[in-house]
Amino acid sequence: MPDCIFCKIVSGEIPANKIYEDNELLAFLDIKPVNPGHTLVITKKHFTDFMQTPEGLLCQMTNLAKKIGQKIINSGLGQGINITNNIKPAAGQAVDHVHMHVIPRLEGDGYELWHGREYAPGEVEKVVEKLKLEL
Ligand code: AMP
Ligand code: ZN
Repeated sequence: MPDCIFCKIVSGEIPANKIYEDNELLAFLDIKPVNPGHTLVITKKHFTDFMQTPEGLLCQMTNLAKKIGQKIINSGLGQGINITNNIKPAAGQAVDHVHMHVIPRLEGDGYELWHGREYAPGEVEKVVEKLKLEL
């Protein structure tokens, strides 16, 4: 993908602070970290988002995110971790190349997660019907 910034990082056209690389995956520091050590795990091959990425690669990305998360804890960069994946602009995806955020979190760092709301009466049953998967 010629205009994809993460493909340019893979090809070496633009620099990145790499922390891991193998034949399929690359991990590098986010240029605007939530906290120091905020890392992005990407596939070397271009896939637009999580939903477009083959399952095997998603498993490899998850395993790598786990290892990086453990490093974050062991090194003291984080007391906790958020592993997140934004899919499509409505969910905050800005770069159209699949990436997993591994974000160090510290007690009192001031960030919050989204706030939940209550279901309206009768709503939850309809939602279950929409989301049920065949077992
Ligand atoms: P998202 O909103 O999930 O698409 O996240 C994209 C992330 O990519 C943001 O956290 C950006 O700070 C990060 N980012 C964008 N360009 C670069 C770059 N050249 N090097 C490292 N991280 C980048
Ligand atoms: Zn790309």
